[in-house]
Amino acid sequence: MAQFRAVVVDKADNGQTVGFREVDESFLMEGDVTVRVTHSTVNYKDGLAVTGKSPVVRRFPMIPGIDFAGVVESSENAAFKPGDEVILNGFGVGETHLGAYAGRARVKGDWLLKRPEGLSPAECMAIGTAGYTAMLAVIALEKHGLSPADGPVVVTGAAGGVGSVAIALLARLGWHVIASTGRASETDYLKGLGAAEVIDRNELSAPGRPLGKERWAAGVDSVGSHTLANLIAQTKYRGAIAACGLAQGMDLPASVAPFILRGVSLLGIDSVYQPKPVREEAWSRLARDLDRAKLAAITTTVPFDAVIETARGILDGKVRGRVVVEIG
Ligand code: NDP
Repeated sequence: MAQFRAVVVDKADNGQTVGFREVDESFLMEGDVTVRVTHSTVNYKDGLAVTGKSPVVRRFPMIPGIDFAGVVESSENAAFKPGDEVILNGFGVGETHLGAYAGRARVKGDWLLKRPEGLSPAECMAIGTAGYTAMLAVIALEKHGLSPADGPVVVTGAAGGVGSVAIALLARLGWHVIASTGRASETDYLKGLGAAEVIDRNELSAPGRPLGKERWAAGVDSVGSHTLANLIAQTKYRGAIAACGLAQGMDLPASVAPFILRGVSLLGIDSVYQPKPVREEAWSRLARDLDRAKLAAITTTVPFDAVIETARGILDGKVRGRVVVEIG
């Protein structure tokens, strides 16, 4: 049986170990499609899985990596045949099911999508779960009935993966984007993606008032905690915030005042278990609405050898935008 390289996280007495190992297909879990992984990426959650800083991994040993692009090697699923190019986001891959940081992955065909037309495998991973989540957030705001005519949109965690893609998408769709970042040095980067204004995240990260001046009609928040509470408190009448992350914290120390006095809505965004039609809609919107030059500006490419170090770096806020990992 052919061997391939995999990043393996395992349990140790004092936490987790992580390193490269040579394994073969007998190491993989059940599934009806086996894929030769060509590209993956590093999301915040991958950082948590590789370092063990949060209990993201719920099966040991685990191959981390929640996203991959690759080519079907063998399939018992009628929807896929050898040679098909596929992508995968979520479904517990890299958490409960062996994931993307390996030469091969075996998964349920129902979790896979055919590679979206117009996006290369590397571009799909430059988008990855972070970009796909940004798209889900934008779609949620649109479905709420919001448009650029309603006022500005605020994006927190702006220089991160979700934030960078959200800015590029929203600017292309005609929104006035206010980017909130802790990295003032990235102002030119954020303006290059289409941000009209850049604000210091410290403005939003401390405990605030239950209701503030109405500053934005919409928001995409990857930060949570006081930041999300302040976003809600400064949202215009009938506006909405799409909440998808917890980079500052998992708490939400907010008041009901914006909900009951301004009709503000909080829209929850999950990227892991969306039904296929929702995933397909988001990916076809990404293929249509994401400026390829901006996607390239957001993206850094690293070899497979650098994936562990990059996953550690993302938790330290050292990664700007998105990272593509070349595996195949
Ligand atoms: P990144 O690390 O790329 O981006 C997070 C950004 O948040 C950082 O770049 C930084 O932006 C900002 N940030 C970090 N720490 C703090 C802090 N203490 N206070 C305020 N801001 C902070 O991660 P991703 O973009 O991949 O993910 C962002 C969040 O979204 C994560 O919490 C992740 O778990 C979550 N997520 C959730 C998904 C879902 O299904 N709901 C899917 C994907 C991601 P800056 O430097 O600009 O200040």
